[in-house]
Amino acid sequence: MQGFSTRAIHAGQDPDPTTGAVTTSIHTSSTYAQDGVGGIRGGYEYSRSANPTRTALQECLAALEGGRHAHAFGSGMGATDTLLRILLRPGDHLVIPHDAYGGTFRLVDKVLAGFGVEHTPVDLADHDALRAALRPSTRVVWSETPTNPLLGIADIAGLAAITHEAGARLVVDNTFASPYLQTPLALGADVVVHSTTKYVGGHSDVVGGALITDDDELAERITFTQNSVGSVPGPFDAWLTLRGVKTLAVRMERHCDNAERIAELLGAHPAVSQVLYPGLPGHPGHEVAAKQMRRFGGMVSFLAAGGRDAALRICAETKLFTLAESLGGVESLIEHPGQMTHAATAGSMLEVPDSLVRLSVGIEDADDLVDDLRTALDTVR
Ligand SMILES: *Cc1c(COP(=O)(O)O)cnc(C)c1O
Repeated sequence: MQGFSTRAIHAGQDPDPTTGAVTTSIHTSSTYAQDGVGGIRGGYEYSRSANPTRTALQECLAALEGGRHAHAFGSGMGATDTLLRILLRPGDHLVIPHDAYGGTFRLVDKVLAGFGVEHTPVDLADHDALRAALRPSTRVVWSETPTNPLLGIADIAGLAAITHEAGARLVVDNTFASPYLQTPLALGADVVVHSTTKYVGGHSDVVGGALITDDDELAERITFTQNSVGSVPGPFDAWLTLRGVKTLAVRMERHCDNAERIAELLGAHPAVSQVLYPGLPGHPGHEVAAKQMRRFGGMVSFLAAGGRDAALRICAETKLFTLAESLGGVESLIEHPGQMTHAATAGSMLEVPDSLVRLSVGIEDADDLVDDLRTALDTVR
């Protein structure tokens, strides 16, 4: 197999056969001329069903995750919703991480629950807890690793064994790691989900999602359901994502370098009571992460020693770290999950500590990021 960056730059992206254009074109046409009724050229008839720019992105994402099939979506939640509609029927049950992405929890808890789908939040680092949560009606174990926002680590190969024994499917939301750091299909996962809005796109300028699988039959059902519900990205969005993904490897290396520097600062600062970063030897998931990830990623969370008020103050004081939701872009972001990304989990089992601060460490110069964060932390020491 070719190396990661070679695939990121070339998979699905051969020069255009008629013009020689080196980069993939943005195909804006909504419909395609047919050579007589039913005479479809190259599989394209209508852009909801298939679009050449989207095809290029899909081939690239499949190559990066080492899967046979990829489908690109208008958002990560569009991908999640489409997949769960395929895998679940009324009366079915799924397991979700106890610190699932807030939007995934909201979809399961507020939307799918209305269709008679049941769920159990579980700490997926605890295999006994997972076994105890499985029911005869369990169809899906949904996992994220590292998790958002607590940076918990789940052992993908271990989860796959338990899930398959129970006759269910293992889905891994690989958004936080990106395919550069971790490829869940190779570890036994059935489907990989991405919010390509984050590291894959990488520039905070486009929303998108993806599903990648090796299962031919499931892939056909995804094609059918996606076309039926219409959760597709536009050609401009597919193109921006494809442009972003070419540099994923170099960006991820820098995200990881910078996150390690930030974790070091936080660990030594009196305003911080706990650093959550899987790269730290003291992190409970460190060994599993070291086994299944290339490096430990660009996300770092921490608990402010001074509680909620200190956490909010730190979020207000940074200048380079912009106060904003989302993650995975070239610029550094800071947020308070309890009142921002994870507000929907308040009062539930998934509620996050109110002293928690989450950082998406960007690819600026590490010294500048360290200075900015140290200055903010010093205001609450
Ligand atoms: C952002 C995110 C999603 C949702 O993706 P959208 O593109 O915002 O719809 C799902 N999972 C994780 C881990 C995310 O960070």
